[in-house]
Amino acid sequence: MSDFQMYHALGQGDPNGDPNHPGVQGQVPTQQFHAASSPYSVGLSEHNQPSPNVSQHYQSPQYTGQQQYASHTAAQGYFPEQPLAPHGGVASDGKMVQQTGGLAMGGEAHGSVRPHKKKDRHAYHNLEPAGSSQAFNGVPANGLGSPSQFLSSTAPAAQIPTTPYSPGLAAPGAPQVPGIPSGSFAPIAGHPSVPQFAAPPNFAGAHQPIAAGPTSGSQQNRVDPEQIPSIPRSRDVPAQYYLDHVYPTMEHHLPPPAAVSYISYDQGNASPKLARLSLNNIPSTLEALSSTGLPLGLILQPLGPLQPGEQTIPVLDFGETGPPRCRRCRTYINPFMTFRSGGNTLVCNMCTFPNEVSPEYFAPTDPSGVRVDRTQRPELTMGTVEFMVPKEYWAKEPIGLRWLFLIDVSQEALNKGFLEAFCEGILGALYGEADDATEAEKAEGRSGKGQLPAGSKIGIITFDKEIHFYNLKSNLEQAQMMVMTDIEDPFVPLSEGLFVDPQESKSVITSLLTQIPALFSQVKNPEPALLPTLNAALSALSSTGGKIVCSLSSLPTWGPGRLFLRDNQKVHHTDAEKKLFTTEHPGFRKTASKMVECGVGVDMFLAAAGGGYLDVATVGHISSFTGGETFYYSNFHAPRDCLKLSKEIKHSVTRETGYQALMKVRCSNGLQVSSYHGNFVQHSFGADLEFGVIDEDKSIAVLFSYDGKLDPKLDAHFQSALLYTTATGERRVRCSNVVASVSEGGTEVMRFIDQDAVVNIIAKEAASRMTERTLKEIRGGITEKTVDILAGYRKNFSGSHPPGQLVLPENLKEFSMYILSLLKSRAFKGGQEPSDRRVHDMRMIKSMGVLELSLYLYPRIIPIHNLHDQDGFPNENGHLRMPPTIRASFSRIEEGGAYIVDNGQVCLLWIHSQVSPNLLVDLFGESYTSLQSLDPQLSSLPILETHLNAQVRNILQYLSIVRGSKALTIQLARQGFDGSEYEFARLLVEDRNNEAQSYVDWLVHVHRQIQLELAGHRKKDESLDNLSTSFAAMRAFY
Ligand SMILES: [Zn+2]
Repeated sequence: MSDFQMYHALGQGDPNGDPNHPGVQGQVPTQQFHAASSPYSVGLSEHNQPSPNVSQHYQSPQYTGQQQYASHTAAQGYFPEQPLAPHGGVASDGKMVQQTGGLAMGGEAHGSVRPHKKKDRHAYHNLEPAGSSQAFNGVPANGLGSPSQFLSSTAPAAQIPTTPYSPGLAAPGAPQVPGIPSGSFAPIAGHPSVPQFAAPPNFAGAHQPIAAGPTSGSQQNRVDPEQIPSIPRSRDVPAQYYLDHVYPTMEHHLPPPAAVSYISYDQGNASPKLARLSLNNIPSTLEALSSTGLPLGLILQPLGPLQPGEQTIPVLDFGETGPPRCRRCRTYINPFMTFRSGGNTLVCNMCTFPNEVSPEYFAPTDPSGVRVDRTQRPELTMGTVEFMVPKEYWAKEPIGLRWLFLIDVSQEALNKGFLEAFCEGILGALYGEADDATEAEKAEGRSGKGQLPAGSKIGIITFDKEIHFYNLKSNLEQAQMMVMTDIEDPFVPLSEGLFVDPQESKSVITSLLTQIPALFSQVKNPEPALLPTLNAALSALSSTGGKIVCSLSSLPTWGPGRLFLRDNQKVHHTDAEKKLFTTEHPGFRKTASKMVECGVGVDMFLAAAGGGYLDVATVGHISSFTGGETFYYSNFHAPRDCLKLSKEIKHSVTRETGYQALMKVRCSNGLQVSSYHGNFVQHSFGADLEFGVIDEDKSIAVLFSYDGKLDPKLDAHFQSALLYTTATGERRVRCSNVVASVSEGGTEVMRFIDQDAVVNIIAKEAASRMTERTLKEIRGGITEKTVDILAGYRKNFSGSHPPGQLVLPENLKEFSMYILSLLKSRAFKGGQEPSDRRVHDMRMIKSMGVLELSLYLYPRIIPIHNLHDQDGFPNENGHLRMPPTIRASFSRIEEGGAYIVDNGQVCLLWIHSQVSPNLLVDLFGESYTSLQSLDPQLSSLPILETHLNAQVRNILQYLSIVRGSKALTIQLARQGFDGSEYEFARLLVEDRNNEAQSYVDWLVHVHRQIQLELAGHRKKDESLDNLSTSFAAMRAFY
């Protein structure tokens, strides 16, 4: 079938004839969301109010700079010549030009979030008062929501948008738990009819035919890019809803999109921030699951960060006996276990074994079978709790976490300015210096001082060809250095003083870190000896466990374990390439294994000047194997990247971290764990997962298979148990419990698919295969899986639609786009890519949580040249008003525009070459009137008194909170000037780039494959057969 016919076929469906699309084409996106079986439609109506004008507020004295500013913008505007058609011939993919020419729909795909605003509307043209909102009439009485306060560096964390919500509900520790009906612990099963969650009466309403009508006036009939599912929309609309609503974990059964900020309320089912099931309704049999093509799995982020306003996780102490557990399957006590015989018998929710209740834990039950003390017992009401555990759970005496900083002081580190930045970063992390951007940390509920938890100790080692240890005892004038020249067999020459309390030894540590760059500027050894240093660090931590933070700025070519340049472009795209993605270096492998055994993990900070080779596969193996993380600066530039480095060191050191961890996942009878994917060690199948360290950003995927049939009358239960030592030195188990209903067929299943979890599982499994399969095979496997899932839906669940119509499940509307992005990611893309970058991204994907992966796959792009007056300021409820995001396509870029482009890894500030000088002045300051005048090394915005500058800084601050492990700093991408423009082009994932199709072409391709499958003519790639059968998620268990 030719492309033309394909397009034509896609166009056959008549959206106007579809009951779900009663409106004209131009309204379809809105209609689609209203039809959704989700609470979002509620949010739409509540937020669809005309924007109140808050102009009066701006006349507060703090904004005196504004008048002046308003005068020139009002006169001139940011791009007076602008009013271009949104698709005025700038599409990077020529095919897409003119596609929307005949449609009434504008380029703005966010019409329902707020009233449609004109393209050429500028924020600063409308400063004159025109009515005022109640809350903003003059100075707000309570001070909350005042822009000036939001900007203030001392602003309390509570001002971050999502804090306020219905007050009675989520008061931390509130004893009344509205969600769980007492008595029955099967609140979900068969009752997805909670009002907010009710599916439309006609289930067909959830279907999403995205066929476009023929574009009038165009000689070819093509897919209308306006009507294909939009990821920006799928985020912006729920984001609005969750400003004013909590996510109650038992009442609602489909978590918010991962990239959205929300308050979760634990009602007995774990927060989606800690655990997300791919299917929240599980088919009872393997056959039914197979008909969906979907993976059944759980994404766990056991220490996932919670936000202000969410309940803290209770820590419970059952003394010497430890927490009650099922005697047969060892499941920990949880809200879904039931009591019988007046409270004497505890029935396990996993294996149904009736346990005898110990006298210490006994409490009588009331006539309905509920323990009388239930509401006083968090382990019976909350989905996630922590148990203190007695000695039998200890591997060694738990103590406060020891941090050991290994600092590369070799020549390259000095030359790049990396050494100085790294030392400053450590100081900032320990003492809150060298980093003035602490609002984000405060918002995350962290100490603005960046101090470590009480009980932590730190040590410092530097290395080049030799290893230098430091005695940091607080009674010393200054640190004492001990040099270990014998790197063949290094030992730790200090019996005490290596690890100290960072507060007690503050002056010694501060003076040492300040002097290190100068100290080694005379020495300049070119080659670092990494492995001997890691071994020395390991021996220093072997008896206690701990965390290593290690910097490296060139290939470690000295001493035992030296590495060589082994990337060879000739093997790219051959069978041998996968060897570049792993390491067979016996020394590094052995050290990594020993570290895990000892409860030690490593975060690596790698800087490659000019993109030099570092053998990330081998060096980063130490991090990924031990549960740590690699921060990789593929083209480190000081001073541009210093702020990012310092923020990331701080994050690494201050984020929630545990060590010496073991993890086990249990599930209901009838299911079993089939595989795990992530960065950890599993010595044999069925064994516990082992982590040297684990932190709040790390996630793993768990896949399940059937070992029987599930009973549709019962729920399916899952429990993850992470045994670890906290940074404060307590040995605990963190249990998260997840429940899902079970149904006979797949129809119900379709209504409770968690798209983010499905994408995350597929991505993690694909990344796990990079060391076994060629990239081409993996891309093929991902594509086949996508077709399997969508064809499975079309075949079995979509109801009747014209055969030419592409029909997508409501909950997988954006799935195809995410998968296309995955194919375009640095890990999997075709074409040239240095192996260092591929390996790095592969390992990141394996450990990324749902939020970080979602952003990584599809960036947030925010136009800042046409912000609404109120964008970037708190509304009357104190929520920051975020402007809508736009699709990642060059066709959406406006002439003269400026855009924030943030994928959670880098944040570009892309500026069109025809940008208005007024915008530059407002954003960067008086002296910056042209793109040339801007400093290419800029990493943050100056603090100015202009409205635009305040808006953009507030928006960036918000973005810096809602992300994963990487810090947000700005990188300029000026059109026609900066190298980072390539990155910008790469991030426009809806366009044809990264050696892959545009979104539209990709949908056409997928649709063609679905049609072939329906007609029985689909040819699967023979070479993928083995691959497919070995991919549990790639191809469900057949
Ligand atoms: Zn059991």
